[in-house]
Amino acid sequence: MLYVGIDDTDSKLGMCTTYLAAVLAERLARFKLVGYPRLIRFNPNIKYKTRGNAGLALVLNAGPEAMDEVEQIMLAAVREQARMEDENTNPGVVLYHGEITQELKDYALRVVRDVVEISEAEALAEKYGMRVHKFKIGRGIIGALGAICLDLYDHTYELLAYRMPENYEKPRQLDRPSVYAMDAATYPDTWDNVDLHNKVIVFSPHTPDPVLYGIRGNSPEILSKAQRMLTTEPVERSQIFITNQGTDMHLLQAAQIADAKDDRSYILRGNVTQAPVTKEGGHVFFEIGDASGSLKCSAFEPTKNFRDIVRKLVPGDEVKVYGSVKDRTVNLEKLEVIALASLTRTVSPTCPQCSRHMESAGAGQGYRCRKCKTKAPSLITEEVKRDLEPGLYEVPPTARRHLAKQIIRITEPWCVMHPSR
Ligand code: ATP
Repeated sequence: MLYVGIDDTDSKLGMCTTYLAAVLAERLARFKLVGYPRLIRFNPNIKYKTRGNAGLALVLNAGPEAMDEVEQIMLAAVREQARMEDENTNPGVVLYHGEITQELKDYALRVVRDVVEISEAEALAEKYGMRVHKFKIGRGIIGALGAICLDLYDHTYELLAYRMPENYEKPRQLDRPSVYAMDAATYPDTWDNVDLHNKVIVFSPHTPDPVLYGIRGNSPEILSKAQRMLTTEPVERSQIFITNQGTDMHLLQAAQIADAKDDRSYILRGNVTQAPVTKEGGHVFFEIGDASGSLKCSAFEPTKNFRDIVRKLVPGDEVKVYGSVKDRTVNLEKLEVIALASLTRTVSPTCPQCSRHMESAGAGQGYRCRKCKTKAPSLITEEVKRDLEPGLYEVPPTARRHLAKQIIRITEPWCVMHPSR
């Protein structure tokens, strides 16, 4: 097999590396594409990312003799399309004919979960005799190599539809009812097309890139069926990708809270140590802890109704938090409520005859019922019924991260599942 990878060709002002991959799928078709182009999402905390930190790869059923020609096609496409004028665009192209070894798979998983240096990608590519092209500082080789080598032990698909170039600057034309009808007809085999609770279409970006929409789902067939149900502006081209989106592949299991490092993503278990507070802007913060230490957790304003769940936590609740750590704060993607702390409050005792609450009989005099003349010595403690059900909760589709696994994708539930739609 001949593997080709590209990354870092776009800027915030336009382009999208997925578009370049779709163009390359067409230009390289005669070299016999194997499977679908690979759309690989990497560590969402990488500061250099333009949007979703994606790298792309194609697998060709071609021998080393095709390398020169494929290379020329790739480089010409990057020169033609990449937004080189943007300081933050540093394309990388990698070509490889050989076996994807365990060492290469381990590297790719580190690009999804960790922070990697350009020099490391370069050294590995050199060791395996890969052809590497760096444009400007060539940071893109990190993702280009990762997209080639990642083992898709779990995967989903995305169909991306691209706009006619003459429409790039114009608002996107999508017939809303057709989008809602498509979602209703294909959910849960497709997901995150719309956010029903928050009443927004989420499968179409608002950024100035060529993407019209992206339908995410379980199989290429369902995506094509879903696309046929949509009424939209003209589509220049569509491409189905195989992807690690919706897999939670970025999450590390840290043994204890103190092990969690900034710029990585985790599943962390602990008890709530500080009750949730809502700060300016509607962001909700609380703290969890274990024997090793404590960590702040956040549900930012864009997570909308998910914050209502978070606000119900109280100190002592046992939870697992899923999300990325930045500035020593876990940015929640999912929350598992494992066990609820018992919550009590003190109230005046009730009269055994009329069941009304008694009144104070004066300082140090206990409590009494004026009507029935009954007495009680002191306040009583009663259990407060919690308005929170244990189980797994997720942010709504409007706040979903590419890599976060949708609860509806969990095939073997271990607790009560609370999918957000
Ligand atoms: P888009 O989503 O529109 O394709 P993007 O968000 O993928 O854009 P890029 O322009 O590709 O962003 O920039 C991300 C850069 O960070 C790339 O150069 C990529 O090689 C690099 N990178 C990706 N993951 C890591 C990582 N784990 N460690 C270090 N660098 C990384």
